[in-house]
Amino acid sequence: MALKKPDIEIYDTTLRDGTQGEGINFSVADKIRLAERFDAFGIHYIEGGWPGSNPRDIEFFQQAAKKRWRHSKIAAFGSTRRKKIAVEEDPQVALLLAAKTPVVTIFGKTWMLHVKEVLRTTASENIAMIADTVAFLKAKGRQVFYDAEHAFDGYKDEPEYALATWVAAAEAGADAVVLCDTNGGSLSSEVRRITQEALAKVPTRIGIHTHNDIGVGVANALEALEAGATQVQGTMNGYGERTGNCSLTSVIPNVALKMNKTCVPARSLPKLHELSHFVDEIANMRHDPRRPWVGSTAFAHKGGMHVNAVQKVAHSFEHSEPEAVGNQRRILVSDLAGRSNVVMKAQELGFEVDNATPELKQILQRIKELEHEGYEFEAAEASMSLLIQKSLSHAETPFKVDAYHVTMRMDHDFAICQATIKVQVGEEVEHTVAEGDGPVNALDAALRRGLMRFFPRQLKPVKLTDYKVRILDSSGGTAAKTRVFIESTDGRESWSTVGAHDNIVEASLRALIDSFEYRLTRKKKS
Ligand SMILES: [Zn+2]
Repeated sequence: MALKKPDIEIYDTTLRDGTQGEGINFSVADKIRLAERFDAFGIHYIEGGWPGSNPRDIEFFQQAAKKRWRHSKIAAFGSTRRKKIAVEEDPQVALLLAAKTPVVTIFGKTWMLHVKEVLRTTASENIAMIADTVAFLKAKGRQVFYDAEHAFDGYKDEPEYALATWVAAAEAGADAVVLCDTNGGSLSSEVRRITQEALAKVPTRIGIHTHNDIGVGVANALEALEAGATQVQGTMNGYGERTGNCSLTSVIPNVALKMNKTCVPARSLPKLHELSHFVDEIANMRHDPRRPWVGSTAFAHKGGMHVNAVQKVAHSFEHSEPEAVGNQRRILVSDLAGRSNVVMKAQELGFEVDNATPELKQILQRIKELEHEGYEFEAAEASMSLLIQKSLSHAETPFKVDAYHVTMRMDHDFAICQATIKVQVGEEVEHTVAEGDGPVNALDAALRRGLMRFFPRQLKPVKLTDYKVRILDSSGGTAAKTRVFIESTDGRESWSTVGAHDNIVEASLRALIDSFEYRLTRKKKS
């Protein structure tokens, strides 16, 4: 099914330019999975790789050629022919045809500096290289995009020559000339002016490809689109070399919701948040909470006044509805918190409270005390939930740790830790001992062993999945020196807890206790 022609075409280069980013590596299977997701999302063009530079990319194109793509066209990327050689004899160009893609994107030189110093050829040979390659690929039935490398730097240096290279590509039949800010150092005003020049003088469509080196990658792409460019190239989550490419996870909602132009299908937009996380997951990159639109803090509110206003009228402190891109509003509880934060957070966690709930004052007081001790609840919702629940229900805790003892000895290069713990459940007391390769590991094992006698069914599936330690800055005004976050799972649900103390072992134990207690009391509630 072909999509209705959009105002702006989205050209994804996550699989090619995105893999230039530090720490980003995709297997062929990863690339196919990503391409399938982009296709389902409605991305118009997916650049799969550079067959001339990477054998792995050749394999991707072999697999991609056998698939039926519903919305996307697959593009192979390469360069213009080499100097002083006929285009049909250039092996790199032959590999572009062998990729059997409907679209081929080739890059060539705009900037005289590069023509002379890097290609070491003449102005006229460079233009012939561009025109020959575009015409050859067009004659083979391909849709051809011409990526004008260093377009803005080249234009600023020698505008007539830059324009001549773009016009050559267009006259040879290029379906679009894509202006690339390869070094990522151009200002938005320059991008707008030069895009306007290109639109006035180059007889084909204009596209834009930007990088984020000075922090304006997305802004530059939008400037070009507002000037009249109709294709934008970028990567998901802004992956790419140095500081990254223009991020499509920002460009797409900006085009759709701020510029009110069509790009991807409207039904896809609420899946953007999920897509961004999926791409992070495949790339094995940590999610950036501050990423515009799709980050976990993109619609998070902290200041008490803000929260109060958001509670009344959401758009008073939000530029768009978080749901439009599949994100959600979050209320952060912190020492800036007013009653409104706590009420909204408690409601979000499933408690029935409002501004008149009498326990509210006590909850707020307790949060402030704990935050002063070094606790932080923003990434530890289970600890927050426990705190509220205890205040509301006035119930006894399911168990108490009366005492514990941890020792460590080194045997050759191995640390062996032993923990002894005394837990109390009702009237009964249990003493247990366990070993581990670290103090926290040993404490976890001992506590778990002690509690298993009383709660075998609930605690058996519980596992620790992540453990993070933060050493706190003494200038931060907190009393404790160490904060520990623990993430646990029972295979169905995951939850995070926090502990803080001067001593790392005690901080860890507090987070562990919260984790087990959350699992035990949560079960009772439901
Ligand atoms: Zn690039």
